[in-house]
Amino acid sequence: MSFRLSASLAGLLLLAGCASAPHQATRPVPAVAPPVAPVVAVTAADDNLNAVVWSQTAIEHDLIFQQTYHDAQSRLLAALKDRHWDALPKDDRIAPIKGLRPAVVLDIDETVLDNSPYQARLIRSGGEFNEADWAAWCKEQKAHALPGAVAFTRFAARHGIAVIYVSNRAKDLDKVTLANLRLDGLPVSGPDAFLGLGTFVRGCEQIGSQKSCRRQLISRHYRVLMQFGDQIGDFVTVLANNAAGRERAMAPYMAWIGSRWFVLPNPTYGAWEPSLFNNDWTAPRDERRRQKIEALRYQ
Ligand SMILES: [Mg+2]
Repeated sequence: MSFRLSASLAGLLLLAGCASAPHQATRPVPAVAPPVAPVVAVTAADDNLNAVVWSQTAIEHDLIFQQTYHDAQSRLLAALKDRHWDALPKDDRIAPIKGLRPAVVLDIDETVLDNSPYQARLIRSGGEFNEADWAAWCKEQKAHALPGAVAFTRFAARHGIAVIYVSNRAKDLDKVTLANLRLDGLPVSGPDAFLGLGTFVRGCEQIGSQKSCRRQLISRHYRVLMQFGDQIGDFVTVLANNAAGRERAMAPYMAWIGSRWFVLPNPTYGAWEPSLFNNDWTAPRDERRRQKIEALRYQ
């Protein structure tokens, strides 16, 4: 049963209340009805509820972010000092690091900016991700910085380390994304500060939304001290997005986790999810759900 009270019904009730007042007969009816507070009701079960509400309310979520950025900061100056230290995967390091300026590379969404309100809205509406309302959310510029991100990036900038954001937000969202970062106090400076999806890289063929070409571009100008992301594709090219392919991509770099690469939690979305249903987003929602249930382990 739905307990949703629609805005129009609430408006009618309000108008009915006004009409019963004795002085209303002689007053002109206002052209626009007074605003009615929206009535929010989530009526259907949503598989993302626990993940989103954990991200938004559990102090453990915030502590993991704090812990990760704090730990990275405590290691950053040693990495800066070590002239041989580089955090780009070998395939993307196309220029030697000698003499290059130091940088840190960060993904944006769910790494430095928190878009969980967008996910919460999907739970409220019963909808699924789509480009149009994602773009509308981005244009609101209301994504808050995740805990620890501002302090870390400012610390890096203060020590002469370039802060580079590599994001798969669509190209036409560049301006609002930069504005959102600045509103939150994240340092954004220099022409290389933001490399969005669609960044042209000479001599490199862009494959899907892979970040490899942009990492290669970075490698021409910077020695990368650390990378940060909530998906393994933020760090390295994943040739096959299935369990074996994801493991294969990470295998050569496991020793870098927690020293050069810092992985942050995102239980609400990410390439891990379609890897469970053969990356087939055209499959009906129930079928995708069935395959996710099949992936559960019972012992
Ligand atoms: Mg992300």
